[in-house]
Amino acid sequence: MFYYSEEIAREYVIKAGLELQEKGLIARTWGNISARISKDEFIITPSGRAYETLKPMDLVKVKVADCSYAGDIKPSSEKGIHAMAYALRPEISFIIHTHQFYASVIGVAGKSIPGAACAGYGLPGSDKLKSKVMDAVARNSDKQSFLMQKHGALCLGTDYANCFELAEKLEDECRELFHKCVKSDHYISDCSKLHKNLKPYIDDFAQILGEKIDLSKSASEICNGEDAEAQYMILEKNCAAALYADATGAKPLSFTDAKLQRFVYLTKYSKLKK
Ligand SMILES: [Zn+2]
Repeated sequence: MFYYSEEIAREYVIKAGLELQEKGLIARTWGNISARISKDEFIITPSGRAYETLKPMDLVKVKVADCSYAGDIKPSSEKGIHAMAYALRPEISFIIHTHQFYASVIGVAGKSIPGAACAGYGLPGSDKLKSKVMDAVARNSDKQSFLMQKHGALCLGTDYANCFELAEKLEDECRELFHKCVKSDHYISDCSKLHKNLKPYIDDFAQILGEKIDLSKSASEICNGEDAEAQYMILEKNCAAALYADATGAKPLSFTDAKLQRFVYLTKYSKLKK
């Protein structure tokens, strides 16, 4: 088995965050990254911090067995998914969870694709989500890449380079699948012709933009303020997801799930601001 030293693990997790941002696979504080330092422990990104501000000491050392952690910094809320994957797959030493564009869009249908198995839906950070992902990882021992329904992707790498290869390959495969199914190059404007009120198909849309958006408004009216760039990205992804859902019969998030996520996000966000 290959394990990182704690020092290198901290360095590589930060490096991965920056590289994922550069490649457009991750944005803002979304997603999470970890590296294994022994059979029993891994280093993971903290909860709700922007990648470009992270220092090695901001990362958190977590135990595979029970997710207990050292220090005062709270680890990512998806630490349980990382811990479960390390426990099930002794050969895995680097894990990336992203909300990458095309994998998130294809994941809306909740179906496995040749390169990745799909885990069923659960609210972010919930035990249900963890058990759905665990089920997919356990049942598909030949797979290292996973779609998370209406949420994102999970890549289990033997090391850093392998993990990046998986994430990029997955995105390429999903982009290709999408374009085979949907003929559109302008997702927002094409979607606005079909959906007057756009519902959330992906978790991050529900969190950032709410339970529905009036698509007769222009993108600049919908996306404004300091978050405009991130909002636009999420709007575009959700429009692509709606087009894909129209083509495949997939459904948006339930109103209750969407509303709950918006509420939790606003509560958390206003706390962070204080
Ligand atoms: Zn996520």
